[in-house]
Amino acid sequence: MPTMLNSLRSIVQEVNSARDLGSALNIIVQRVKAVMETHVCSAYLRDGKGQYLLMATDGLNQNAVGHVSLGLGEGLVGYVAQREEPINLELATAHPKYQYFEATGEERYSSFLGVPIIHQRQVLGVLVIQQVDSRRFDEGEEAFLVTMSAQLAGVIAHAEATGVLKAMGQNAQEARFKGVAGSPGIAIGHVVVMSPAADLRGVPFRSCDDIDAELAFFQRCLGSARDDVKNLGKQLEQRLNTQERALFDAYLSMLDDASLGGEVTERIRQGVNAAYAWSEVILEHERNFSSMSDAYLRERAADIRDLGRRVLAYLQESSQQSRVFPQNAILVGEELTASMLGEVPKEQLAGLVSVQGSSNSHVAILARAMGVPTVMGAVDLPYTQISERRVIVDGYRGMLYTDPSANLLKHYEDICAEERELVKGLEALRDLPCETLDQHRVPLWVNTGLMADVVRSLERGAEGVGLYRTEIPFLLRERFPSEEEQRLIYREQLEAFAPHTVTMRTLDVGGDKSLSYFPIEEENPFLGWRGIRVTLDHPEIFLAQIRAMLKASEGLNNMRIMLPMVTSVGELESAKTLIYRAFHELVEEGYQLELPPIGVMIEVPAAVYQARELAARSDFLSVGSNDLTQYLLAVDRNNPRVADLYEPFHPAVLRALHQVVRDGHSQGASVGICGELAGDPAAAVLLMAMGYDVLSMNATNLPKVKKVIRGITLEKAEQLLDEVMAQEDAESVNRCLERGLGSGLTRLLGMPELPEVIH
Ligand code: PEP
Ligand code: MG
Repeated sequence: MPTMLNSLRSIVQEVNSARDLGSALNIIVQRVKAVMETHVCSAYLRDGKGQYLLMATDGLNQNAVGHVSLGLGEGLVGYVAQREEPINLELATAHPKYQYFEATGEERYSSFLGVPIIHQRQVLGVLVIQQVDSRRFDEGEEAFLVTMSAQLAGVIAHAEATGVLKAMGQNAQEARFKGVAGSPGIAIGHVVVMSPAADLRGVPFRSCDDIDAELAFFQRCLGSARDDVKNLGKQLEQRLNTQERALFDAYLSMLDDASLGGEVTERIRQGVNAAYAWSEVILEHERNFSSMSDAYLRERAADIRDLGRRVLAYLQESSQQSRVFPQNAILVGEELTASMLGEVPKEQLAGLVSVQGSSNSHVAILARAMGVPTVMGAVDLPYTQISERRVIVDGYRGMLYTDPSANLLKHYEDICAEERELVKGLEALRDLPCETLDQHRVPLWVNTGLMADVVRSLERGAEGVGLYRTEIPFLLRERFPSEEEQRLIYREQLEAFAPHTVTMRTLDVGGDKSLSYFPIEEENPFLGWRGIRVTLDHPEIFLAQIRAMLKASEGLNNMRIMLPMVTSVGELESAKTLIYRAFHELVEEGYQLELPPIGVMIEVPAAVYQARELAARSDFLSVGSNDLTQYLLAVDRNNPRVADLYEPFHPAVLRALHQVVRDGHSQGASVGICGELAGDPAAAVLLMAMGYDVLSMNATNLPKVKKVIRGITLEKAEQLLDEVMAQEDAESVNRCLERGLGSGLTRLLGMPELPEVIH
């Protein structure tokens, strides 16, 4: 149905560019009514009290809008919401659920088709079409409305959230946004919006006080962009044809006052800052062009975007340089990166909120290592609208509250005070060994990457490093660090922990870790070129790293080398050949070296089934449960939409973990785990019982794990493991752990009790 598909696309485009929720809904009802050639189209949305309120209609009485509402299961609309599926009736009045509202004037309409608007499993509202004569909406029409509603759900949720924020104005009103718990803890502070330079969609809204100065600044930036375009045109003059040259002239005229420049000036006069006004105008024009049916005009959207970015770069240049961070900065962005964290002075960074990503994205792992409360995957947060607002980040539940009420603030401040007490209590454990009540010793190591981790780790009593993520210093640079630069970085790590062991993982890029200077573009990055696959294809990069590591370990001899993403024995053999080669070369060059232990990460299912062979050829195994969970369950660790399915207590994951330790030990290899799971106190008990030799975790959780292990016997842990391994799903595993370890566990995790109103 090409025409239907076109209408669908153009309606979604139009709704997307609506200024607010009201106009979005009006566009929906008018356009759907026209496309479906029916007499009425109405949209009902769920309000704060769980009622479905008529928000827009084309066909019913306008004065019923905002007045007629139905509860769940009430009338046909409430019935659609309750059943979460379409209801298609030729004669609505004959249905037992039919209810008549005088205000709407709907008595004239016989046929009814209602479909639920569902976003993230929640019924946001109901879309209804009605017809005077009895008309059976056919299957195709019903399917069309369902498609429309599924596509619009996200747009409506977003518009609703933006509306809540916009309506606040002077009397800011509390609003909350749900995400995924990224790093535990509570942070209260002010938002700093972080976005990549010249990102048109990431410009934070700010008002401006000195309008004349802002206008002058805007003109200066336009001038610079104009010069750039002219220069570019000149440079390319010889190589361009007439049509292409005309494009440069078109660019220049778009910057004029009569065109884009003028529209922006108008918005600045209304008190909006130049960068935001510019991005708004550009995005509107871009959308208009993209929705045109003429292919040539559609292509022009790309030109507008390019021009938009050029000017925006100038508009942002000065504000980037003069950026000052508030005392308790909460960084908020579409996709936060490790290098963004580096921009904020450590003592001013209070919390993080990322629209993209999930609990095992690398930025969340870093946040946990640094002890910074974090919410990931806040997909409906209109983040550009909350610049400088006061917010609460609840990293336990993955919730963000903007403009919190005094009540809520007080509540969270109390939780922070309690947390401080808890941390103090745990500090006392620092110098005590991690051993069970029946004297079974379990070494607790840490995962590191930043120099900041080192101090925290030592303060918390880490006995070694089970995973040093060498890619982190790589991520913070603008080119590959040289061999000597690497040697210095690694030496610092090894010295800081000596004589304890430091496990250095070879470069693990790809997936969600991409180096700006070595971009990897792939359809399926987590199934693509990552970890050892990249470094074996680039022996020059691998060898430089290994040489740097070996040199750094001279005289300390506390290093182990670990290989990420190994899928086959061949990869291990190739990597070992390169390591031996580097080792022998360095010894020939006169370095006094000992060959370090070489280990393999078990993080893909293939490696689980070959743990025996891999262990026979190496000194140790270390399970990367973050990746292993995603690959076993086929759940992208970075995708908030499937965050609920990312369940490391899934019996399949637990069985794999158990098998690896048995197979590794059968070959005499030591077996550890360095995924985030090791830092979960309940999981740590199970892993200990399975026989893991080392648990390596983020420094923040180490004292909590120690506390739980010191409070249990190995015998009891083994009984619990037996019970857990007999369960059939993650929920029963969780229940079993709660029963076995007691509710004190929640308390230990710092998970605060919240009053009912906040849930
Ligand atoms: C893992 O996958 O569990 C792991 C430790 O490595 P990373 O999180 O860096 O992928
Ligand atoms: Mg991994």
